[in-house]
Amino acid sequence: MINFHPTGEQLTLFAEGALTPEEAVVLSAHVDLCARCNDEFHQKTELLAAKVFHLNEPMLYPFQHDSMVENITSSTIKSAQPVQGSSHFSKYIRLDSLRFTLPRTLRKFAIKAGGWSYLAGKTWQAGIEFSSKWQASFMYLEKGGHIPEHKYGGKSFWLVIDGELNEGNKVYRKGDFVAIAKDASKAPHSNDEKGCLLFTLLEKPLVFSTGLTNLLNPSSHLYF
Ligand SMILES: [Zn+2]
Repeated sequence: MINFHPTGEQLTLFAEGALTPEEAVVLSAHVDLCARCNDEFHQKTELLAAKVFHLNEPMLYPFQHDSMVENITSSTIKSAQPVQGSSHFSKYIRLDSLRFTLPRTLRKFAIKAGGWSYLAGKTWQAGIEFSSKWQASFMYLEKGGHIPEHKYGGKSFWLVIDGELNEGNKVYRKGDFVAIAKDASKAPHSNDEKGCLLFTLLEKPLVFSTGLTNLLNPSSHLYF
């Protein structure tokens, strides 16, 4: 069951096309996984369309959220050339013998994952080529994996794709959406048997409070 959702305001901005393209990607990926937000998004979209077109009744045909998101994301976020040797467009993302199903919105980014890098602390990362100042990646924490405490220089988002992530006294599970404010500090870990796969989006680089920036972030490319 999904316990952490975008706010009503975030969904309204998404329906209005008023989010940044980067934020639209993570909202869309959550909407792919979450029936509640999917319904709310469709209602907002229908009301908005009714308002814009001065209709008395909401639209009677199903709104195609996929094509709308495709238009938003493909027109604004152009990927760099896929990394040579990276896998083809895929419903799945793999790490060794593990295989995870990606939300529809993120499937086109699977081809841009340029392979996994082992960081430290039982944590893996695969950066995504976004032509954007934002940095996006998939992160995988094995059972017992952890990221030392770090601070956010800008907004950030996590979307749990599979497994469980522990942070403070919260447990985030598949589909959970976490919006992180600038200056927040986090130190997540995973206790789940299958670990945790996350999609992460980062507006500004991280600052590690523990002085481990160089160890964990040798090329300033930890996109968590
Ligand atoms: Zn939701």
